[in-house]
Amino acid sequence: MAPQKSVRDYIRTIVDFPHEGILFRDVTTLFADPRGFRLCVDQLLHPYAGQRIDKVVGLEARGFILGGAVAHQLGTGFVPVRKKGKLPHTTISEEYKLEYGEAIVEIHDDAIQPGETVLLVDDLLATGGTAEAGIKLVERLGGQIISCAFVVDLPDLGGRARLEKMGMDVHALCA
Ligand code: IMP
Repeated sequence: MAPQKSVRDYIRTIVDFPHEGILFRDVTTLFADPRGFRLCVDQLLHPYAGQRIDKVVGLEARGFILGGAVAHQLGTGFVPVRKKGKLPHTTISEEYKLEYGEAIVEIHDDAIQPGETVLLVDDLLATGGTAEAGIKLVERLGGQIISCAFVVDLPDLGGRARLEKMGMDVHALCA
């Protein structure tokens, strides 16, 4: 019998995308495979069995795909953190640094109630700037982040250390 594939085995690496010198982790191949996608969602959820989670917050865009599946499985609500200008109701926003320039992300100001417990989900943790902005938005609304879950962690880029320094629990499936 062939050995069982791990989540990492379903992820494709694209050389020089979107810029020369970047090895882009393409999780669309993981999402497209029925076994891979189920394995990934099951493993993302695993550490939180029995914990109270009120909301799953997903970061645009691949965090929506994962976060929706995770929220469905946990029986919680799902809340999107979106790039500036996409959410229709009143929002609060956070600016953060990208490799080149800045980005702004937003959340509806009524999406999290004070005291709600939140699981933050995204596909990949690199420098941690995107996740940090999402964490700040949730905390400004009075939410309490239980943990941050990612499919891929690139520890050399410092994201895990950055989030742990903020007191966050970080869960990732592969490097
Ligand atoms: P960070 O803010 O530097 O941690 O970058 C993480 C964000 O950029 C996440 O929302 C990812 O979706 C995206 N990202 C960065 N590098 C990659 C990659 O190699 N594959 C997929 N997404 C990536």
